Amino acid sequence: MRRFIGILVLAALAMALAAWLADMPGTATVEIAGWRVDTSAGGLATAGLALAFAFVLADRIWRLVTGAPRRFSEWRRVRRTRRGHAALARGLVAIAAGEANEAQRQARLAARALDDAPVARLLSAQAAQLSGDAASARRYLEAMRASPETEFAALRGLVGEAMRAGEDRRALELARRARELKPGAPWVTAALVDLETRSGDWAAAAESLARARRTKLLPAEQADANAAAVLHERARQLVREDLKRDAMAVAERAHRLAPDRPEIAATLASLYAKDGRLRAAANLVEKEWARRPHPELAAAHRLARPAANPLDRFRQVERLARNAPDHRESHVALAEAALEAELWGEAKRHADAAVAASGGDASAGLCRLFARIEQSRGDDPAAASAWLARAADAPADPAWTCRSCGQPHAAWAALCANCGAFDRLEWRAPARLAGQPATIEQKTV
Ligand SMILES: [Zn+2]
Repeated sequence: MRRFIGILVLAALAMALAAWLADMPGTATVEIAGWRVDTSAGGLATAGLALAFAFVLADRIWRLVTGAPRRFSEWRRVRRTRRGHAALARGLVAIAAGEANEAQRQARLAARALDDAPVARLLSAQAAQLSGDAASARRYLEAMRASPETEFAALRGLVGEAMRAGEDRRALELARRARELKPGAPWVTAALVDLETRSGDWAAAAESLARARRTKLLPAEQADANAAAVLHERARQLVREDLKRDAMAVAERAHRLAPDRPEIAATLASLYAKDGRLRAAANLVEKEWARRPHPELAAAHRLARPAANPLDRFRQVERLARNAPDHRESHVALAEAALEAELWGEAKRHADAAVAASGGDASAGLCRLFARIEQSRGDDPAAASAWLARAADAPADPAWTCRSCGQPHAAWAALCANCGAFDRLEWRAPARLAGQPATIEQKTV
C-alpha cells in the first residue's frame, strides 16, 4: 500500500514537471545527420527525460536477463535446504514414534538435501541405533566426531554404543575425551563413575564420585556410600603396592565416610596393627564390636591383640566379647578361641549360645564348628559325623551376598565376582535358589 502511494506521488510529480517544462518559453533546433528538428525548450527537456527513463529501463531488463541463472540456482538451493529441514523434522518425529524405517528414509533425504551436514548425520546415527544397526550407527557417529560442533554429541552416542557392546575400555577412553570437552556434563560424570568402578580404576572412580557429589548428580548419601567402597578397594590396592601409609590414609577416609561398615573398620584396624599401632587398632575394633560384631573385626582383633598362646588368646577374645556379650558373633569368636585352647566345655557352651542367639537353628557353619569340637575332643567320633551330616541341610551362614544376583562371597569386594555389580554386597544369609550352591566355606565360622 505504501509502495502504491509512493508510485502515485511520483507519477503526479512527473506530470507536474512535464506540464511545467511544456509551458517553458523559447525554442530549440537540433540537427543530426541531415535531419533537422524544431521544437520548444519544453519539448527538448521532455525528450531528454524520456531518453534517461529508457536507459534505466534497458539496464533493468539487462540485469534481469543476465542474473537469471544465478537466481535460479539460489532458488533451488533454498528449496533443497527447506526440503532437508523438513526431512530432519519428519525424521525426528519418526524417531520419537519408534518408526525405524521411516526415520532412516528421512535421514537419507536429509543427508542428500543438506550435503551430509553434521546434523543430518546425527539423525542417520539415531535412526541406525533405533533399527539396531550398531555398525552403521557407529560409522555415522565417527564421522560426526570430525566436526567440532558435533564431536561431543557423537561421543555420547559412541560411549553408549561401546558400553552396549561390552567394550568398557573403549567406552572409558571416549568418556574421558568427552570430559576434556565438557567437564561438567552430567552424563559424562555418570558414565565415568559407572565405567571406572566397573573396571576397578579406584583412584579415578574416587575423583568421579566426588564430582558426582559436588554437582548433585548423586544424592550425598549414595555418593558417600559408593565413595567409601571405592576408597576401601583403593586402600587394599595400595597395600598390595606396598604403600601402607597411603593405604592407611585412604582407609581412614573410607571409615569416616561410612563409619557403620565393619569391613572398612576391620581393614583400617589391620593396617594400624601392621604399622605397630596396636592400641589404636584394638580401640577401633573394640569400639566397633560394641556396635556391630563381625567376623572380619574378630580377624583384625587377632592382629591388634597378639597373644602368646591359645589360652591367652581366649582371654583376649573374652575381653572383646564383653563389648557385645549376647551377640552371635561374640559367642562364635569365643567358641573358636576356646576350641583352639582345647577348652572344649567352653567351646561347646559358646557354640550352643551362638545357636540360641541366631534363633535356635544351627547354621551350616555352626554345625561344622560342633563337628570340629567333637573331633578335637575325640570322645565320640559318631557325634562329629552326625554334625557334618547335619551341616549339609542346615541353613546358610551370613555371608557377603550380592543384592543383584544373590551370589555369596567369602570376602567383601566392591565388585560382585559373579555379575560384576558395584557395591552390592551386604552381610546376610544368602537365599537358597535352585541350581545355586547353598553356602560357601566360611573362614571364620
Ligand atoms: Zn552379583
